[in-house]
Amino acid sequence: MDLIVVKFGGTSVGDGSRIKKAAQSVVNEYMKGNQVVVVVSAVNKTTDELLGLSNDAIGGNLTDKQKAEIMAMGELTSARLFSATIESLGVKSEFIDPYNDLWPIITDSNSLEAKIDFKTTNKKSDGIKNLVNQGIIPVICGFLGKGPSGEITTLGRGGSDISAFLMGHCLEANEIIIVTDVDGVMSTDPNKIEDAILLDEISVEEMRDLATHGAQVLHPHALRYKDPLITAKIINFAHGDLTAKGTRIVGPFEKDMLKSVSVHKNPISLIAIVGEGMLKKVGLLAKITNCLADNRINIFGISAGQNSITAFVDKQDSEKAYHILHNLVIETDVLSSLSLGTDTAMITVVSPDFTGETPGIISNITEPLRKNNINIVEISSSQTAVVLYVDWKDGEKAFNLVKGVLE
Ligand code: ASP
Ligand code: MG
Repeated sequence: MDLIVVKFGGTSVGDGSRIKKAAQSVVNEYMKGNQVVVVVSAVNKTTDELLGLSNDAIGGNLTDKQKAEIMAMGELTSARLFSATIESLGVKSEFIDPYNDLWPIITDSNSLEAKIDFKTTNKKSDGIKNLVNQGIIPVICGFLGKGPSGEITTLGRGGSDISAFLMGHCLEANEIIIVTDVDGVMSTDPNKIEDAILLDEISVEEMRDLATHGAQVLHPHALRYKDPLITAKIINFAHGDLTAKGTRIVGPFEKDMLKSVSVHKNPISLIAIVGEGMLKKVGLLAKITNCLADNRINIFGISAGQNSITAFVDKQDSEKAYHILHNLVIETDVLSSLSLGTDTAMITVVSPDFTGETPGIISNITEPLRKNNINIVEISSSQTAVVLYVDWKDGEKAFNLVKGVLE
């Protein structure tokens, strides 16, 4: 017997017949002997409509608290509808909203981007488990939370994905299914490139990067709660079948990869190449990377400026890389000279907090280094990772300082 948490997105419950089809797919799994917990979004674009209405009526005077209360009506309604539909199909169901004593998702008081109190939520989830064990199908409002004074909060737009992964984690579900209006994750946006293909499988690591770079399929924060032991998939509602194939999300493969600091075990050497107007020269980067690749030298990173390009290689390879690149510099007009820099420790910091909502996160990391007189030789950052290079001798100290920031 499996415990399945299934989330239905707005389109998948977009009209009466879709709600019925969705509820039937849940009942089918239940009839096979599985336990099912449903998380549901607002019907179609209800959230947008409610926001539009309140903006038109109230405009700038609408408080965040009022906004959350009004938006919540979308999920308050859809959960009732969905639960009643399951009952109409002959199975016991209960809708669970933040007014219900059994409501599990507890947050801080931020009305529109509430932060989840994981410990409390985890504890309160026992109540949901009890319902399930009594043969009842709980239908939980997605997107919503309950703040410290019992007020309704919301997890941010698209937040019902977070609700689903959070519930999956707390209930120790076997599977999380996200039912949406696409077949799964594509190799790219099919509206932009026709040849895009559907992926059978994607890792949490890749999915998270995709999501933070704007792919709409899944809220990036949802993956924080993805347990490696829980299978997860994204499927199209059109199948009307929860066993349908879509894209499986696997992993995470590294423990704590969602928030981690690591140091590369060997020193990393920096090789800086300078030249005039380098970035305007087509194919120059490729030349540099190709000649290293031809000699089986891995590049850990590369940073490019107007008049210089720095390549980061393992110290073991650095002498060889230095000579190879020197030949290239001599051969190539626009390149004038190069130097082999000091040995550095490469510290990689991965955290979902880099996704842009926490201003100053990079300075939080660099500040303790400054205070301890540790010079940052290079820094590169993406939406999900920051890579710092410091003098090799400072590596361990810097690692511990950065680790302290994340905890
Ligand atoms: N209904 C909410 C929204 O439109 C939450 C969700 O659908 O995930 O943002
Ligand atoms: Mg969504």
